[in-house]
Amino acid sequence: MNLESALALMCDVPDFPKTGITFKDMTPIFENPQAFRALQDALKKSVAPLKPTKILAIESRGFILGSPLALDLSCGLVLARKKGKVPRRTLRETYGLEYGHDELHLHEGAVSKADRVVIVDDVLATGGTLMAAANLARRSGAEIVGLQVVLELGFLGAREKLKGLNLQSLQIESA
Ligand code: AMP
Repeated sequence: MNLESALALMCDVPDFPKTGITFKDMTPIFENPQAFRALQDALKKSVAPLKPTKILAIESRGFILGSPLALDLSCGLVLARKKGKVPRRTLRETYGLEYGHDELHLHEGAVSKADRVVIVDDVLATGGTLMAAANLARRSGAEIVGLQVVLELGFLGAREKLKGLNLQSLQIESA
């Protein structure tokens, strides 16, 4: 299967989790092994030239995408998680979402100034989540060499907010 056919399996769920939000459900891709493979191959092709030492995956779908990527690229995998999930000392960032507010935590020392970090998530909406993850990596002293998402909701204008960071999207939805 090619990437285009794989991405076409994504479905729009209107008014989830709130009225007015169209949720992009990527789970049909994960349910189909050929589609999941095509997606992972495309992510690998996009991220490999950045020569990362760590993949920083964002809870929760970022974990699914980031784990095979880290193994394929022989990188470390580090997890940026929601409040209350990270057991040791953390760095934390609060951010606004398309549908609310949240907090992102990263273990202290999970990335360091020796690291070239690529941050991975499924969907870029307003950009708050990626910005928070980038701040966590930056505060740890790491070099952020890329932000990788599957789908960018381009009409929300987050690319502007993330200017200066190397944002890569497999698909951009303009309206
Ligand atoms: P944002 O911080 O607004 O860019 O939101 C991005 C984060 O929220 C990602 O971790 C996404 O998984 C999730 N998200 C936000 N909006 C959507 C959406 N319309 N469909 C699916 N996931 C979304």
